[in-house]
Amino acid sequence: MTYLAVSISGGDAEQMNERFHAAKAAGAEALEVRLDGLAGLTAEMAAGLVTQAKKTKLPVIATCREKDEGGARAFTAADKTAILATCVKAGADFIDCELKAFAKKEVYEPLKQVLKDTPQCRLILSAHQMKGRFEDINLKYETMLSRWPMAICKLVYPVRHINDCFEALDLLQRAGKDMIVFCMGQAGLMTRVLAKKLGAFMTFASLDADSATAPGQIPVGQMKQLFRWDTLNKETEVFGLIGNPVGHSLSPVLFNAAFEKDDINAVYLPFWVEGDQEQFSAFVDAMAARPWLGTGGFSVTIPHKTHALDYVNGKGEFVDTLAESIGAANTLKVGFNGIVCGYNTDYAGALDTLTTAMGVDAHGLHQMEVAVIGAGGAARAVVAGLVDVGAYVTVYNRTSNKAASLAEEFRCKAAPLEALAEAAPEVVINCTSLGMHPEVDGCAVTAEVMRPEMTVFDTVYNPIRTRLLQMAEQAGARTVTGAEMFIRQAMAQYRVFVGQEPDEKTIRKVVMDILARV
Ligand code: NAP
Repeated sequence: MTYLAVSISGGDAEQMNERFHAAKAAGAEALEVRLDGLAGLTAEMAAGLVTQAKKTKLPVIATCREKDEGGARAFTAADKTAILATCVKAGADFIDCELKAFAKKEVYEPLKQVLKDTPQCRLILSAHQMKGRFEDINLKYETMLSRWPMAICKLVYPVRHINDCFEALDLLQRAGKDMIVFCMGQAGLMTRVLAKKLGAFMTFASLDADSATAPGQIPVGQMKQLFRWDTLNKETEVFGLIGNPVGHSLSPVLFNAAFEKDDINAVYLPFWVEGDQEQFSAFVDAMAARPWLGTGGFSVTIPHKTHALDYVNGKGEFVDTLAESIGAANTLKVGFNGIVCGYNTDYAGALDTLTTAMGVDAHGLHQMEVAVIGAGGAARAVVAGLVDVGAYVTVYNRTSNKAASLAEEFRCKAAPLEALAEAAPEVVINCTSLGMHPEVDGCAVTAEVMRPEMTVFDTVYNPIRTRLLQMAEQAGARTVTGAEMFIRQAMAQYRVFVGQEPDEKTIRKVVMDILARV
């Protein structure tokens, strides 16, 4: 079993006691009593808190974290020893002591005795590297074991980049069940969730979004409901969204809900991959090369769709013809053998959405004047699709040479944005990220572009009614949302990932419920 421990700290004992019960109600499987934050902490107070926490009937970890390892204060050896020893006697199931402190004779000797006298309490020997990776994480682990072979070893370090998570995952995979290893910070999210799949002893969550005791801690409710904690096991297949940023994305909620509905043993995570082709490729390589991670596939978003295509082409693996002509892949399927294939589901999603909204089939777009704003990955998919069905496309973009080269490639036209108001196209499609959360005031065009007879389609889906769509509505134009495109392309992606039709009702409900709250 991997415990999902909720770390509780607070201003006073009463507040902490309330949080113990709230954590249990939210699904905590263990409680970490963070004593270091308490004003005027004494051994008696610590024992009292352990006794209170034990009333939840959850396993209890007593921790007085040192300041230089992420805690609230420094402890003298004598204070630390007295507090932890008293917690053992009060019934703590685990005490957490930093390796650095435990290495001191005056801490080691008395704690050794108390742990020997109370075998039901186990020692978590911890090391928190606050400024970056461990010089040698494996050596640190061996050092811990040599100090106290029965210890549960806990190693924690912050990551700036997701690619620094793999040494933590490798150690977890190798060391097995008496190990806790994870990475702090947003980029370390996967190490906290996948801890269960890899059989870690424990991982830590916060009670809610405001009470994290370490950077990147995920609220317990999110761990349970969004990341399907209760269903995770060794066989769980791992999917996720690669992008930068990824925090705003609906995909984790959508795919996890669809997996749940279809009873598929899989989890979908946000993978925040900063950097360019090199970092992208290193990430996909690292995931695909570790069969024990069970990577099934990735959705790919800004700014990595062309990196995804180049990655697959560079390996000489299969790319669907759509992704190839669009020049971008938004979907990667990872086979059991680690082979990665590329697809593009944006094209079908966009065209389906537009034709349905206009009440025509693809032929209905033939010779229609369409203005596409933007020249990135989404624009390429839309332009490729529209040109394919014979629409007359003009590309407008902030960086005009990108518009020109996209137009040249797909044999359509490019024009400066200022010319759009004069052009009066029948359809305007925004494929820039302007207007996307959190910069919701952004808008790709000015009001004078709008005409009542137009169809205005914004591929941005968060928020659902973007500023552009509000403006179009005011002008009496037909509006088409990015949410619809998102739903349709996600359904296509689901088919690639798991080879079966998703439950459309579930997907639609999840997307609309979330977007309604934005
Ligand atoms: P991308 O490849 O990074 O392209 C971004 C585009 O936005 C470029 O044309 C860029 O112009 C333009 N842009 C960015 N900031 C701008 C600004 N401040 N002013 C003017 N233009 C700006 O991204 P993408 O993958 O094409 O995605 C673009 C949008 O499509 C995103 O908002 C995404 O949410 C949406 N999308 C929606 C769906 C869906 O299912 N609904 C699917 C895919 C994408 P430059 O060339 O001048 O930099």
